Amino acid sequence: MTRLLLFDIDMTLVHTNGAGRVAMDATLLERYGVAEPTAGIRFDGRTDRAIFLDALAKLEATSDGEYDALVEGYLSRLPLALDERGGTILPGVTELLDALERADSTIGLATGNMRAGAAAKLGHYGLWERFAAGGFGDEEVVRANVVRRGMEELARIAGVAGRNVDCIVLGDTPLDVEAAHAAGARALAVATGSYGGEALAACGADWVFADLSDTAAVLEVLLG
Ligand SMILES: [Mg+2]
Repeated sequence: MTRLLLFDIDMTLVHTNGAGRVAMDATLLERYGVAEPTAGIRFDGRTDRAIFLDALAKLEATSDGEYDALVEGYLSRLPLALDERGGTILPGVTELLDALERADSTIGLATGNMRAGAAAKLGHYGLWERFAAGGFGDEEVVRANVVRRGMEELARIAGVAGRNVDCIVLGDTPLDVEAAHAAGARALAVATGSYGGEALAACGADWVFADLSDTAAVLEVLLG
């Protein structure tokens, strides 16, 4: 049995201080001239594709060309937004990733970010190279499919495709937990985002931590 570990990005590994929303809002403002274009649209736990489609539906701009233009504008603005917002790597993340590297763990991403957005965000904090593969929010609206893709990609890269694998997903929202379970994985939830430990336990998370700073305790779960 090979253990695969898939990490969510926003509010699990890093807190970009809203850089994604800033980049998207700036793109929409320039293109459509509306103030606060993403007000009322939920971001956390969802795929970029789902968020972009919601924003365009709200603006009644639903053609494929509009979607592509939004993605291009978002990705071109994201690096500057990351610089300006001054976010941070969340507590214990660097230490945990170091320990997993020493343990030769197979780690990847299961994130609602599109691949290029994930690379920009994690690259900004020097973490992108840590992850071998992943499932991303470019094509998928349903997060469980992101987890499935992440598992497949990671298994393929680890050379264990088609063999017995088990997978733990690390995330900060009930949607991460639901998606993990729907994809046949277990879920370790961290209360570093908008949801507290009780809410994460109530939605069925297999393990709940306040954050990832207790490296030994988290490793016991991930490698156990
Ligand atoms: Mg998240």
